[in-house]
Amino acid sequence: MEKTNYLILGSGVAGLTFALKMATRFPDRKITIITKGDEDESNTKYAQGGVAVVTSEITDSYQDHIEDTLIAGAGLCDLSVVEMVIKNGPKRLQELISWGANFDKNKTGNFDLGMEGGHSASRVLHHKDQTGFEIEQKILKQVHRQENIELLPHHFALDLLVENNRCYGAKVIHIVSKKTTIFQADFTILATGGIGNTYQHSSNPSIATGDGIAMAFRAGATILDMEFIQFHPTVFYEKESKNKFLISEAVRGFGAHLKNKRGERFLLKIDSRGELASRDIVSQAINMELKKSGEPCVFLDCTHLDMDKFKKHFPTIVQTCIAKGVNPARAWIPVVPAQHYLCGGVDVDTNGQTSIQHLYACGEVSRTGLHGANRLASNSLLEALVYADNIFKHLASCDLKENKLPISLENKNNPDFIPMTNAHQIQLQDLKTELQALMSSSVGIVRNDADLKIAQNRMTEWKSILENTTQKHLLNWKMVEILNQIEVGLLIVEHSLKRKENCGGFMKLNY
Ligand SMILES: Cc1cc2nc3c(=O)[nH]c(=O)nc-3n(C[C@H](O)[C@H](O)[C@H](O)COP(=O)(O)OP(=O)(O)OC[C@H]3O[C@@H](n4cnc5c(N)ncnc54)[C@H](O)[C@@H]3O)c2cc1C
Repeated sequence: MEKTNYLILGSGVAGLTFALKMATRFPDRKITIITKGDEDESNTKYAQGGVAVVTSEITDSYQDHIEDTLIAGAGLCDLSVVEMVIKNGPKRLQELISWGANFDKNKTGNFDLGMEGGHSASRVLHHKDQTGFEIEQKILKQVHRQENIELLPHHFALDLLVENNRCYGAKVIHIVSKKTTIFQADFTILATGGIGNTYQHSSNPSIATGDGIAMAFRAGATILDMEFIQFHPTVFYEKESKNKFLISEAVRGFGAHLKNKRGERFLLKIDSRGELASRDIVSQAINMELKKSGEPCVFLDCTHLDMDKFKKHFPTIVQTCIAKGVNPARAWIPVVPAQHYLCGGVDVDTNGQTSIQHLYACGEVSRTGLHGANRLASNSLLEALVYADNIFKHLASCDLKENKLPISLENKNNPDFIPMTNAHQIQLQDLKTELQALMSSSVGIVRNDADLKIAQNRMTEWKSILENTTQKHLLNWKMVEILNQIEVGLLIVEHSLKRKENCGGFMKLNY
């Protein structure tokens, strides 16, 4: 058994920011970060557009950013949370800059602010189209300087250790050696990110399997708003690949036009903001257009734009499109919507505290009330930074009292692990593919109760088969990961069945 003061599950912007702040303030306290892939593999790493922050009260205002967030959230945001997050933006931005993060500036030396869908002003700070990578690398660099932070890559959190509604840490497996260890912690922080890999097409990397939400749910935590999945309107369309390459919203902000095969800007008929309508509207419009036309994709036309400026702003997008055989200077980019972001998750208060004592959640795994029924573009990195700070401040004022693991948990949580046979691995991969296809076809952009119920039955069956297997001690982390994805799928279905009215990113047609 390992003991630590703060156990952080996940090394994206949320987990790393909290770790760095706590470690700097309390050099005598031990902070352990466990993360299932390479240390930087995360949704954070792939964020392109940037961080939405009000940096000038002359060209922009807090009130405008607040209103834009509330409009995107379709009446379901928590106003006090929205105000708190947005007003904290400038301080968190300064902190990021003090850790070495660079944001692009224009010729006059001011921030080069990007415009994105749903925003009424240019307010998105970016580092070319690699903002997440820049943030992740710069915070990681600081984390490595802290002697009291232990960062353990390729460690998978299997389950939380919870008794009598109190969290004592987590059970973890080292993916390479297959050794399991119990990490006993005074406080545990879930920073496990999103759920994209539960769907067939997602902008998220394969690590995004909703583990934190499933673990918290099994432990009895309150989970809310799982029906609000944000589908990004424009990922590069390819027949074969699953994890789709994102064409940032900022490309539309830069002036690209969304067209159907006939060259019509079909969005203008649906929303006067055209390409700059919020993501839910654009995704639903594309979905309808594709259903109507029977075509597999629509297109982003960038050919009329200033290509020198475009290439400078979006070097990764241009290079990747060219590598995929489409030069944006001459050809339209084929795009489709794909799962992108989960607005709901583990319910937390403004201190990031979940309904389980000593358990906190931060970043995409959490449901804070900021996003309501739909996230405003580039508000999520901001949310993670602000809540990491809130959790830090709150826990800095909490005494460290011994959070000794009850004997019952120590014994109960030590199953044997056996290596998986090839046959097992193939079966699991097949199951994952089936689950992803089911989620995309029946729990996608537009849902209906009949399909949701069919999906629920199938997933319940799969869950019970897998649970029986895991109870027989045939436990393997990949099995746990798929079980987590099924759990997340079931939560999305259950919450979608309960919601009766369409709003924000949620659309259900009952026929
Ligand atoms: C392509 C793309 C573009 C985006 N663009 C933007 C943007 O421009 N602006 C914006 O605000 N947001 C953007 N987002 C969303 C934003 O990047 C994420 O919401 C945010 O980075 C989430 O940070 P996080 O720290 O909560 O989670 P992540 O960065 O996803 O980190 C989660 C961590 O948890 C680890 N983990 C998961 N499960 C386990 C487990 N069982 N055991 C151990 N470790 C585990 C993962 O390995 C990872 O290290 C984008 C997302 C994507 C995918």
